[in-house]
Amino acid sequence: MTIRNRIALQFSLIVASILIVFSVLIYLVSATYRREEFYDRLKNKARTTVRFLIEVKEVDRELLKIIDHNTLTALFDEKVLIFDAKNRLIYSSVDDQVIHYKTSLLDEVRKQKDVETFSGHNELIGLLYQQNGRDLVVLASAYDQFGKSKLDNLRLTLGWGLLAGISITIGLGIFFAGQSLRPINQINQEVSTITARNLQKRLDEGNRQDEIARLAMNFNNVLERLQQAFDQQRSFVSHASHELRTPLAALKSEIQLGLRRPLSIGEHEDVLKNLMTDADRLIGLTNSLLLLARTMESSSQVPLQPVRIDDIVFEVKDELAGVRPDYRIEVDFQNIPETETETIVEGNEDLLRQVLLNLFDNACKYSPDHRAQVRISTDPQVCHIAIHDRGIGMSPSDIQHIFEPFYRAQNALGYDGFGIGLSISAKLIELHRGTLTVDSKLGTGSTFTVSLPHI
Ligand code: ADP
Repeated sequence: MTIRNRIALQFSLIVASILIVFSVLIYLVSATYRREEFYDRLKNKARTTVRFLIEVKEVDRELLKIIDHNTLTALFDEKVLIFDAKNRLIYSSVDDQVIHYKTSLLDEVRKQKDVETFSGHNELIGLLYQQNGRDLVVLASAYDQFGKSKLDNLRLTLGWGLLAGISITIGLGIFFAGQSLRPINQINQEVSTITARNLQKRLDEGNRQDEIARLAMNFNNVLERLQQAFDQQRSFVSHASHELRTPLAALKSEIQLGLRRPLSIGEHEDVLKNLMTDADRLIGLTNSLLLLARTMESSSQVPLQPVRIDDIVFEVKDELAGVRPDYRIEVDFQNIPETETETIVEGNEDLLRQVLLNLFDNACKYSPDHRAQVRISTDPQVCHIAIHDRGIGMSPSDIQHIFEPFYRAQNALGYDGFGIGLSISAKLIELHRGTLTVDSKLGTGSTFTVSLPHI
């Protein structure tokens, strides 16, 4: 069942139930009111008749019958019977009919003084009349033709009204549900036209206020992020192939050079050395690409555990010093941590080592003096590692792009590198719920700060 029909059905059921309850209530109240009113009229009739008979000396039975039959207020099929204490009928308003009555009813009237009941279709009341030591029982019955026909009429009106009300409700329900869901249909149609080829398409955001407009806006945000991811993927592939092509072309031209004429042993050695350098560059590049691809893919599956970040800092410093003896890295603490745990973070040791290695290496690589200062500081929530150098620095426009894969600033082109390290580092730090920020001035130096929440 479609949502439109479901809403219409629920709406109709609710309104129909309310209408039915009200109609039944109105009918029952009217029916009760009619009955009570009719019983009152019967009682008045009974009282008047017995008073005429007993209290007005001038009125005898025959006259009373005449009065009974000729009053304007005579009811349909009206009968009035009066019994004495021995259950003898002392007055009957009708002569031409055999009247059935039960003595048990007369006894009940004597007991209760006032009884309201039925006799076939007719309403019947019984009253005990006590005067001058006489106990008379008056029974009066009649058919409420006028009241019942009014009630029939009311039943008919309510029935048809109910039918019309429910039909109108169903119609309106379908119409309004369709109206409210129309924007969703529109979104459905628009979404079905979006493919990988036209991710730049956006949905109509309508009034930007209601729930459906917010759905469209959220969907547009998702599209925006998808498009960015697609663009990144595309530029990654084109950058990666471009980066791979350069060393491969160098390899090829070295080989061509070697094949052009017979070479001496010394020349062979030179060619092989060049080939070795290009091969190393290719290996370095493919390793970085592999690492970047892995970081993008499996970031959510990396196991994290408590690690001492200050220990990793010292280990990385020693590791780099072993490979590049010309690099000078000084590490110190800006403040003495208040507690032992302020330098313990929830993280992956290998990945954090990778990040720090890249930042230390960059700081020394892009500084003519190959020096870097590393400062560890803590506050109640976060542990900061700031890597400062007095190197070539970066312009504000470069700072905006250095975390994108393959981006290299103009002033860094003379140095070895592929422009991948920082994008990997930024992703890894994000994975540790930390931040990697940079503060740099062209020609003056840079400070990269890793901030990680400690336990
Ligand atoms: P790579 O160093 O291999 O080029 P990275 O991703 O590590 O790649 O760095 C990206 C770019 O950021 C570098 O090419 C350089 O322009 C800039 N950069 C990074 N660290 C520094 C630094 N300490 N000083 C100046 N520029 C830097």
